Amino acid sequence: MRIVSGLMRFTYLCALLMTTVVTAKTADIESVRVWSGPDHTRAVFDISAQTDYKLFELNNPPRVVIDVASARLKTQLELPKNRDIKGIRFSENKERVRLVLDLEKDFKPKSFLLKPTGKYGHRLVVDLNHEQSQEQKTVEQVMPENRDVLVAIDAGHGGEDPGAIGASGTYEKEITLNIAKTLAQKINAQKGMQAMIIRDGDYYIKLRDRFKKARDKRADLFVSIHADAFHSASVNGASVYVLSQRGASSEAAKWLADSENQADSIGGVIIEDKRDMLSQVLYDLSQNAAMEESHKAGQAVYAALKNKVKLHGRGFGQAAFIVLKSPDVPSMLIETGYISNPDDEKNLKSTAHIDKLTTQITVGIRNYFYQSPPPRTWIAAQAKAKKHVVQSGDTLSAIASRNGTNIDTIKSINNKSNNSVMIGEVLFLPQ
Ligand SMILES: [Zn+2]
Repeated sequence: MRIVSGLMRFTYLCALLMTTVVTAKTADIESVRVWSGPDHTRAVFDISAQTDYKLFELNNPPRVVIDVASARLKTQLELPKNRDIKGIRFSENKERVRLVLDLEKDFKPKSFLLKPTGKYGHRLVVDLNHEQSQEQKTVEQVMPENRDVLVAIDAGHGGEDPGAIGASGTYEKEITLNIAKTLAQKINAQKGMQAMIIRDGDYYIKLRDRFKKARDKRADLFVSIHADAFHSASVNGASVYVLSQRGASSEAAKWLADSENQADSIGGVIIEDKRDMLSQVLYDLSQNAAMEESHKAGQAVYAALKNKVKLHGRGFGQAAFIVLKSPDVPSMLIETGYISNPDDEKNLKSTAHIDKLTTQITVGIRNYFYQSPPPRTWIAAQAKAKKHVVQSGDTLSAIASRNGTNIDTIKSINNKSNNSVMIGEVLFLPQ
């Protein structure tokens, strides 16, 4: 006990000492950024040094006042036009800078300081969260018979977190959003399949909230899209990753997972909310089942990409990505290429390449669902039908004539737009 209290006293002294050091230093308020998501607006102030601040709300008209201690305003802050904040005002005296955000309506703001990470310095974050409607929380979803399978597509990074930055300045967060939207269109064009986009604009969602959104809608699959950088510009190609509980399949996979897992601290999350976590035992049990399905789904996408797009190394790996830790939704992370490689960076901006890439991902996802259909789905009903797994040397016309049907019927049942078939592809045949 004595040791503990001694330690506490020591910590207290350190804290006192730190406060003194901090207040002696003047912090410059350098700039402000604003990101708006569907359910929140986030304002981020860049501050040159750590400092104290006070935040309070005022009504009539609604506003938030932030007093930043021993600070200086470096420039006139300008706020980009946005939905929730009408404008910003400021005043300065010897002790502090007062920032006033004029709001469109009353909010209960949340605020916190972020320590420097990556290319960012100290930041003060103010979140204005929209109240979630009660209806959204309590409505029990009834899953209809013969429903579509639901694929949640997560565009990596966003908002305060640009992700990796390419040699010619491309932001990963923009590449991932574009690919996610194209992929969603292709999935929606498939009979029996439906897509939901987890992030559809330039804002940050914390890693655990990404899969939580998918779970809330009872998605059947979660696909996180990325295009990361590596320290060597020569590294290129796409790869599919699934969760590993036991460590990474390669050094590169570990490195990637570590860098992805830092996204929260860059994007602006400080406290990990564990209150709603399932008990660890339950979590492990259901996660094992989800991991088995994740493996099947990941392999199906990998097989569809193989020979069609350049893969990185083996093209399939495992590592401890937080965003893949959904306890019950099969999940994968697709590195669509390395933005740090000039050829990949160019490809990731090319419409033709993105078209090919997303077509193959769709084929892979579709093959997975036909091989392992969730119960009571339209695809499960089809999967009871006669099927043929394409072998080496098979053509569509040969398969059709062997089974007493024609190419057009097979194409229609399988939602195919051309006559090419792939080894391993599952084709459904008329009964
Ligand atoms: Zn990434």
